[in-house]
Amino acid sequence: MVGIYIHIPFCAAKCNYCDFNSHVGTQCEQERYIDALCREIECCGGGEMTADTVYFGGGTPTILKPERLLRILTAVKNRFRLTDNCEITTECNPGTVGGAELEGLRRGGFNRLSIGMQSAEDEQLKALGRIHSFEDCRKCVIAANAAGFDNLSVDLMFGLPNQDSDSWKYSLEQAAELEPSHISAYALKIEEGTPFFEIPADELNIADEELSRDMYDFCNEFLRQCGFRRYEISNFSKKGMESRHNLKYWRCEDYIGIGAGAHSCRDGRRYFNIENTEDYIRSVNECGSAVKASISISAADKMSEFVYLGLRLADGISEAEFKARFSANIDEVFGAALKLNLNRGTLIRDEGRIYIPERYVYVSNAIMSDFV
Ligand code: SF4
Repeated sequence: MVGIYIHIPFCAAKCNYCDFNSHVGTQCEQERYIDALCREIECCGGGEMTADTVYFGGGTPTILKPERLLRILTAVKNRFRLTDNCEITTECNPGTVGGAELEGLRRGGFNRLSIGMQSAEDEQLKALGRIHSFEDCRKCVIAANAAGFDNLSVDLMFGLPNQDSDSWKYSLEQAAELEPSHISAYALKIEEGTPFFEIPADELNIADEELSRDMYDFCNEFLRQCGFRRYEISNFSKKGMESRHNLKYWRCEDYIGIGAGAHSCRDGRRYFNIENTEDYIRSVNECGSAVKASISISAADKMSEFVYLGLRLADGISEAEFKARFSANIDEVFGAALKLNLNRGTLIRDEGRIYIPERYVYVSNAIMSDFV
């Protein structure tokens, strides 16, 4: 069973913090890109395959009219067998959709939306370069509910310019009031090559390490009280409403990435698509594929990935599953790293599972790096 990721590299405007593979494209470029996407899907090798998740990400998938997104989804349905309860998600920018679009998407088979809210404060949204207000987001959630979406995720960011603890609390409260079934909360990272990177730190006025950690801890506790469970470092859901697609990444399951810059992981190999949109279109038109490189994943890398990605999950990793996948005991392979972390309390071993205790989740990168 695979998951399918479709990359839409277009946005209405580029946000000030964003280093994703996205840009403001023309209508003509969008059309040619969709043609190429459908061709890549059609030509996608690997025989008969069943998928239980499809995820449209970007960029801003909803910058495309619903008919266009549904054309791509139809191509997916023609190439892959989708399970009856297949999770079909699209990321959604609240500034790009209204009731009619959401109804069209729901009717066409999408059953999950991941809405980019980011903040409840319009000043902060403006500073980020987002094209929507908080009111747009609220209306988007209401319209999505009316259209029949009952699986909604809301994305938030903390550590934003001029955001203090009270302001973060306000955004969390407003997000919870929208009653989504899933919330993702990410710390703002200043990436090289973005407009934020060019602004001196004291001018940008973003949270320091201590404030950022307090914000994360507050978020954990607040969302727990609202009935959400943190199932991954930055992801919280109501019972049974975890993102099944994203769980595939953390559980090292196979997925197929379609589109410019998309990656795939299947049958022990990793595939990397060409990133530049025009080059991607040209390559697909010429040969039905845009894979620029592929590597075989070594046994050692597979074991490492299984552990460090699995440790992102609140439930951590199963020792039995490690043994079933790799025919080895985890202690034989990672004895030293395990012992070190178990002794200092940064890992817990309990009933056949190994996981990072709540109080160390914020420093989980350091713990996970012991297994790389
Ligand atoms: S909408 Fe998303 S992908 Fe597009 S520029 Fe903003 S952050 Fe990047």
